[in-house]
Amino acid sequence: MKVVLATHNPHKVAEFQQIVASARPDLEIVAYDGPEPVEDGVTFAENALLKARAASAHTGLAALADDSGICVDVLGGSPGVFSAYWAGQRKDAAANLELLLDQLRDIADPHRTAHFTSVIALVTPDGAEHVVEGIWPGRLAAAASGGGGFGYDPIFIPDDQPAGEERTVGDFSDAEKQAQSHRARAFTELVPLLSTL
Ligand code: IMP
Repeated sequence: MKVVLATHNPHKVAEFQQIVASARPDLEIVAYDGPEPVEDGVTFAENALLKARAASAHTGLAALADDSGICVDVLGGSPGVFSAYWAGQRKDAAANLELLLDQLRDIADPHRTAHFTSVIALVTPDGAEHVVEGIWPGRLAAAASGGGGFGYDPIFIPDDQPAGEERTVGDFSDAEKQAQSHRARAFTELVPLLSTL
């Protein structure tokens, strides 16, 4: 079965391909190069649906879209849906990360809790819509570490690590990230829904 992935973010495309290859090898993920809608939603779900609806309408295929971000408790859940633009209008991952570290520079470790959220929308050509969510809990490091992943990965320390380990996702291998990320968790919720297509 063919499903179009409504993202132009090459990191997300690569991650989805790895997640799908292990969870649903029968699924053919098709890249999307059509028009992207203005992401004017104020929730992850609204933005994921905007993207999936646009890709399904343009291609006539079932479409998947992820909207995701990092939510910091002491900032009331921000950057949240503004994660890609936190330091301004340009999608500058290094500037976004530096600004967040700077905003939290005086905040002690117990108050640096955060989570990644991924909301995936599935829209089919007959107009059916499904939305699933994956959460990856952790906290923010004091400084960036590791060159893996993308975005805020070098400053995010997932909770669920072997005793004594405090690695950031930037220190993870691709396979380690894809085994437990917010995106993988959301996709796990989606698998039963894909079987009904
Ligand atoms: P979107 O493409 O509008 O969903 O923006 C997502 C933004 O959230 C990205 O540009 C990153 O800044 C951040 N983000 C989402 N998922 C991840 C991840 O897996 N690692 C690091 N940053 C992420």
